[in-house]
Amino acid sequence: MNDAKSKGYACPRCTVGRCSPRKTTFAEVYHGHLLSVPNVSAFVCDVCHFAEFDPETLEALWVDLYGEAPQDDFQSVAGQRRDSTYGEGSN
Ligand SMILES: [Zn+2]
Repeated sequence: MNDAKSKGYACPRCTVGRCSPRKTTFAEVYHGHLLSVPNVSAFVCDVCHFAEFDPETLEALWVDLYGEAPQDDFQSVAGQRRDSTYGEGSN
């Protein structure tokens, strides 16, 4: 009976369809960037086509595209910029 779980699950959006693993195009804002990537693994509903992406898949995608870890980088860059321009050139 629990067999079905490994192949898919009830769609959280329409509750009628079944989300099952397949490849689809990811097109969403992720970490503030609009990403559009074809052939991404996701669970897609066969009724409303709601697509749920695995967070780990998205992280891997991001690293693929940008070659580094996401959120950390943005924060540290923003912080450093402010610090280095502060208090210089007052002489
Ligand atoms: Zn659905």
